[in-house]
Amino acid sequence: MLIGIMGGTFDPIHTGHLVAAETALEEAGLDEVWFMPANIPPHKPNTPLASPDQRLEMVSLAIDSHPSYRAVDVELTRGGTSYTYDTVTRLQQLYPDHRFHYIIGADMVMYLPKWHQIEKLSEMVTFLGVGRPGFDIDLEALPSHLRSRIKLMTMPAMEISSTDIRERIRNGRSIRYRVPESVRLYIERSGIYGS
Ligand code: ATP
Ligand code: MG
Repeated sequence: MLIGIMGGTFDPIHTGHLVAAETALEEAGLDEVWFMPANIPPHKPNTPLASPDQRLEMVSLAIDSHPSYRAVDVELTRGGTSYTYDTVTRLQQLYPDHRFHYIIGADMVMYLPKWHQIEKLSEMVTFLGVGRPGFDIDLEALPSHLRSRIKLMTMPAMEISSTDIRERIRNGRSIRYRVPESVRLYIERSGIYGS
């Protein structure tokens, strides 16, 4: 099977993540997309506001009705900083018959050279890059060994981020349709993000 990994902090998961995953599923002919919340994301200055359990629960609610999506908690159960190289190494041991692609938005595409063990990782997965408003993808600016390991896909530009959603909640503004309704209700019920 060909698996697309959708990694992220998912603090909270939003429609941008879901459309990115669906674009990759369709355009790259994936069999499944595995949504994988990071325990401690390597490149973020602040720890996530929602707990690992809450972030996993929101992901599960968001993907509930999709037959080809799964929520995978390997990074949460491993604990510590969630380096993608460690995760993919483990997944390849656990599932030797699967091939893995890794889905990333434009901000992460340009950041790839800084990823832990990126030379080895880029031999292990193909990166599926999607556009994101505010971030240009300039493949020419990346080292050629990386460039050849990235496939670009076209998704509708969605100016949605978890940071903006958290800020909206703090300011009492609407997040309707930016997140699935089940996630919106969960956030409201649990009071995370100061709702
Ligand atoms: P934060 O603002 O907290 O960083 P985020 O919205 O960037 O949250 P992440 O969990 O950091 O979400 O992102 C996970 C992955 O999804 C990354 O590869 C990111 O580039 C991608 N992504 C997030 N939002 C979008 C979007 N609106 N369009 C395309 N890709 C996205
Ligand atoms: Mg981000």
